[in-house]
Amino acid sequence: MTMIPYGRQDINQADIDAVVEVLRSDFLTQGSVVPAFEKVVATYCGAQHAVAVNSATSALHIACLALGVDKGDLVWTTPVTFVASANCALYCGATVDFIDINPNTYNLSVELLAEKLFIAKKAGTLPKVVIPVHLCGQPCDMAGIHALSQQYGFKIIEDASHAIGGRYKGELIGNCRYSDITVFSFHPVKIITTGEGGMALTNDESVAKEMRLLRSHGISSSAAEMCPRPPEEIWNYQQIGLGFNYRMTDIQAALGLSQMQRVDEFVTSRHAIAKRYDQRLSSLPVQCPWQHADSYSGYHLYVIRLRLGEINKTQRQVYEVMHAAGVRVNLHYIPVYRQPYYEQMGFRAGHCPQAEQYYSEAISVPMYPALTWGQQDIVVHALHAALAE
Ligand SMILES: *Cc1c(COP(=O)(O)O)cnc(C)c1O
Repeated sequence: MTMIPYGRQDINQADIDAVVEVLRSDFLTQGSVVPAFEKVVATYCGAQHAVAVNSATSALHIACLALGVDKGDLVWTTPVTFVASANCALYCGATVDFIDINPNTYNLSVELLAEKLFIAKKAGTLPKVVIPVHLCGQPCDMAGIHALSQQYGFKIIEDASHAIGGRYKGELIGNCRYSDITVFSFHPVKIITTGEGGMALTNDESVAKEMRLLRSHGISSSAAEMCPRPPEEIWNYQQIGLGFNYRMTDIQAALGLSQMQRVDEFVTSRHAIAKRYDQRLSSLPVQCPWQHADSYSGYHLYVIRLRLGEINKTQRQVYEVMHAAGVRVNLHYIPVYRQPYYEQMGFRAGHCPQAEQYYSEAISVPMYPALTWGQQDIVVHALHAALAE
């Protein structure tokens, strides 16, 4: 039986040719293709600077470091996200907390953020950075979050791992109009892929510079940054800080550069698939994704919520019946603080009730541009059968 995954890459001959060309060239890494890819993404999004790295996880880490996140600092994010959105703060020695979600968008609730900030200000426990996540590709209320950042003095990193090609108030995600840094993921299930890969965009030149240092050992070969040394000694590079090897290869960047030619096409296909699901699932006891008028989603995921009161199965049973039918539905996500590692820190069930309600009902159905209508119909029929019994 062929399995239908929840997400997968779309690779064409042009993508393959672009990668092969790099393989035959002089530089597999640290060549000219990474900067070319950065330039194309920055220009597309309307951001000043783009720093390509080997994953969105690395991008989130260096984004936190570049904004000064350190031991003793607080970072807030949403519980309904991949663990990397929170782990990045822990890497820096900071403490993480979670803002419950808006029950319509499933993104971090700006009302609850405002309440929590009000209380934190009195207690002297304001966050240094807030990391909103554009869940499923639907942009957060960035104007609202930005206004609060001005009032309370925190920085913003948009985790836009699901959202390249999406728009907020008509403008592309990634322009950093309402944030300090925006991060993309290029994992194969995301909108465009480089195999593994990520990127951090910013309009702040010093933040971009810091992130470039951090991605490559803290090493600089720019005369302006290097410390003075005797002229007779050879110093063609210096380590001026402590960084990592988070570099993207030119092989990966070639794939990303080629994929960027189809980013709008990919998002358009995702919207067509979403529209077909909206129509074909409307008679079922499920809640289809609700879209805010300000948002044009990247549609990385199509999450339905089961109306369990009207269904003769548990969420787990629906998941298993779908898998048995060859449809690899998934769950995005278990609230981060419910992970055993986070529970060890003292987080308990009930911390974010809306997130837990969502978690108990959500199922991600297959969503990717290469999903044929025939395959989508198999998914739809399997779901009708699973919920009818
Ligand atoms: C996929 C994802 C990440 C991590 O991306 P990688 O490129 O795999 O490191 C981070 N945040 C969110 C919301 C994601 O979906």
